[in-house]
Amino acid sequence: MIFKSDLDQGKYQIISEELVPELDKYDGFKLSLVIPCFNEEETLLHSFNKIVNDLHLIKDIELILVDDGSSDSTWKIILDIKSKDNRVKGIKLSRNFGHQYAVTAGLLSCNGDCIAIIDADLQDPPKVILKMISLWKKGHYVIFGKRKKRRGESFFKIITANIFYKFLNFLSGDFIPRDTGDFRLIDKEINDILKQMPEYDRFLRGMIAWIGFSQVGIEYNRDKREYGETKYTFKKMISLAASAIFSFSLKPLRLAIVLGSLSAGIAISIVLYAITMKIFGTPIPGWTTLTVLISFFSGVQLVSIGLLGEYVGRAFIQGKYRPQFIIEETTKENE
Ligand code: UDP
Ligand code: MG
Repeated sequence: MIFKSDLDQGKYQIISEELVPELDKYDGFKLSLVIPCFNEEETLLHSFNKIVNDLHLIKDIELILVDDGSSDSTWKIILDIKSKDNRVKGIKLSRNFGHQYAVTAGLLSCNGDCIAIIDADLQDPPKVILKMISLWKKGHYVIFGKRKKRRGESFFKIITANIFYKFLNFLSGDFIPRDTGDFRLIDKEINDILKQMPEYDRFLRGMIAWIGFSQVGIEYNRDKREYGETKYTFKKMISLAASAIFSFSLKPLRLAIVLGSLSAGIAISIVLYAITMKIFGTPIPGWTTLTVLISFFSGVQLVSIGLLGEYVGRAFIQGKYRPQFIIEETTKENE
């Protein structure tokens, strides 16, 4: 069966946060944190301090703050943080490329033994990262956060997210775990493989799922955003969903073939019917049927051409091999 909503429970082991043993040793490894920031001036300093505080036991840590073309003072704040804390590296993109690209830029420049991706708004509690490291030490390569409850999110967002995951699972052959975002910890090896995946259309959680190795989920409670507003506009959500579907699966094309064959089947039986009527001399009752049929078949054709166009367009963009993002500035080492 292709349509099974909680297959991730069967496919991936999901462990409740409380059941993961505390991390026993805080040294002997380096942790990189990638934090994408788009117009986060209201929350960035607060979030940074909380992250550093929650993870203060970890001996070796680097924090990569990526400014995704903010129009507010986010970059100034990053420079300020960097001047006080040398473990920080700031990357400024030349414009707003989008969350997935900001994270990609961060992933490319980190060199920890394990790498955590966390949003700048602290909806995902930094302390969960300690539990993730604990599982990483047990030999897992990817530890993704699975949201238990969606606190403080609108009904609309919960419903759309739900539909999105069902649809996505249906189209992508079920391997993207449900209710997960990009909050996760990955092993250096996974990051090295990601670096070799030059695709322009980036849907990181799908790409990481595709890589394989041992992947497990931690179930945790997601908080609501304390400061500022969501930077994921409806348009950005749709674009992420489109990337997830079209960069990931050929199922829409196959569906078009099925739909096309079905409508061709219907068309053939109607032709047979028309010919029989012609032979036996009964006049075919007119218009309405004809109009309905023509619009139906042209609808099917247009949708199929549109789907095809979506793939051709993406291949076209990929074919140009432009860089996925442009870095305008980075903070200097040891400044
Ligand atoms: N973000 C980004 N570029 C964008 C949109 C968002 O780097 O174009 C960052 C944002 O600063 C935050 C993270 O991506 O750190 C998640 O965004 P947000 O919290 O607004 O999304 P939500 O949690 O509402 O889905
Ligand atoms: Mg958020």
